[in-house]
Amino acid sequence: MVVKNICCLGAGYVGGPTCSVIASKCPEIKVTVVDKSVTRIAQWNSEKLPIYEPGLDEIVKARRGKNLFFSNNIEKAILEADLIFISVNTPTKTFGNGKGRAADLKYVEGAARMIADIAKSNKIVVEKSTVPVRAAESIMNILKANNEPGVSYQILSNPEFLAEGTAIQDLMHPDRVLIGGEETPEGQLAIEELCSIYEHWIPRKSILTTNTWSSELSKLAANAMLAQRISSINSLSAVCEATGADVSEVAVAIGLDSRIGPKFLQASIGFGGSCFQKDILNLVYICESLSLPEVAAYWQQVIDMNEYQKTRFTAKVVQSLFNTVSGKNITLLGFAFKKNTGDTRESPAIHVAKTLLDEGASLNIYDPKVEESQILYDLTHPSICESPEEVKKLVKIYPDAYSATNGAHAVVICTEWDEFVTLDYREIYRSMMKPAYIFDGRKILDHEELINIGFHVQTIGKRLPR
Ligand code: NAD
Repeated sequence: MVVKNICCLGAGYVGGPTCSVIASKCPEIKVTVVDKSVTRIAQWNSEKLPIYEPGLDEIVKARRGKNLFFSNNIEKAILEADLIFISVNTPTKTFGNGKGRAADLKYVEGAARMIADIAKSNKIVVEKSTVPVRAAESIMNILKANNEPGVSYQILSNPEFLAEGTAIQDLMHPDRVLIGGEETPEGQLAIEELCSIYEHWIPRKSILTTNTWSSELSKLAANAMLAQRISSINSLSAVCEATGADVSEVAVAIGLDSRIGPKFLQASIGFGGSCFQKDILNLVYICESLSLPEVAAYWQQVIDMNEYQKTRFTAKVVQSLFNTVSGKNITLLGFAFKKNTGDTRESPAIHVAKTLLDEGASLNIYDPKVEESQILYDLTHPSICESPEEVKKLVKIYPDAYSATNGAHAVVICTEWDEFVTLDYREIYRSMMKPAYIFDGRKILDHEELINIGFHVQTIGKRLPR
């Protein structure tokens, strides 16, 4: 079989960009991205796409209506497809009075059931969603149970390693593509089919093939190792603040060791995003189920350190402001979990904002890409105040950094947007209450210059004179 028709279940941060790149690199293949959400599909078919990613608009607009389609007609897309990506969300579920947390596979299961109910011809089903090890086995059980006579399936694991904010760049030039499949002749044939799609633009040597379980585990392992690096440098940032060492200098010094390397050694208020915490929780749960409690505890510590870093930073804000923020006006610059995305899932800014609101502060918030409705949603779910109306009284969203900082007691940098580096901090200082404070949670500003202007400055991993 040569793949001529691809369907992707899930038009989110992964399904949308991934399929747009496939459509642009494989003009002979029809690619249909489907979703249950009518709003999301309408946005993909509109001028304003549902997600912001540098370079995405151009690709979608070039291919949409030619060989790239966004649709709610899931049945038609499944019937027509030779290959189906499952790219649905895999959120975290809690159980045991909130003590246990693990991946909730209800959407993956729902997607598998849809395929089983609808398909009338052979399909290659590809796990694009991040799933626990051996999820392919459960998917196959569902597919087999509702099988049409004569219809056969091959399941592949093809985890996505893109990072939000650089998704298009990562998809165009990935470090590697990973494809896992069964070690049977049919499994190997299916792997070759998927390889031949990626080979349109990715050299064969960058496409790694493994057995299904190695591929599934590699995705969890990659995110766990990346998050572990952040928690490691963040743990050292606390030691720096206590001793007078500077975490940036330490990061350079250790990063020059070629065994360690310089990437992902930026101390900050902590990692966010929909994946790191979720995938580690998933790994922890798997380890517990496999009776490996010491391994589970080891990875749990990466999450605990991240929580500690967010709490430590926010406590520093409160302590510096004479131990009370009640009735004070604090500006958060940035709300997305990192720059170049409008995604706020697990953003450290949510923790900072909720804690400050809880302590009685009023907040001014500006983010270049996050919509007001999203910020208000994040601050009211789960609710810390009586109602969204109450939050609205305490939180004001501004269209730019200057209006957001006007009259504020303190500014907290929560996201490392480039535009925050080049703001006119003299003008900002003039318009703020005095003494004026800046808490640089992303270590992007020139602290010496800010101190010269008159600010009191605090950052991560370095003691500053004022
Ligand atoms: P998302 O929430 O942005 O999108 C998932 C979409 O799937 C939603 O729009 C939802 O409506 C849709 N959906 C759910 N069930 C469906 C069904 N049965 N049929 C059709 N549509 C359905 O999620 P995302 O960020 O794109 O993540 C998807 C998966 O990829 C997750 O497992 C995630 O862990 C993984 N992943 C995410 C990233 C990232 O940076 N966001 C990176 C790598 C991997």
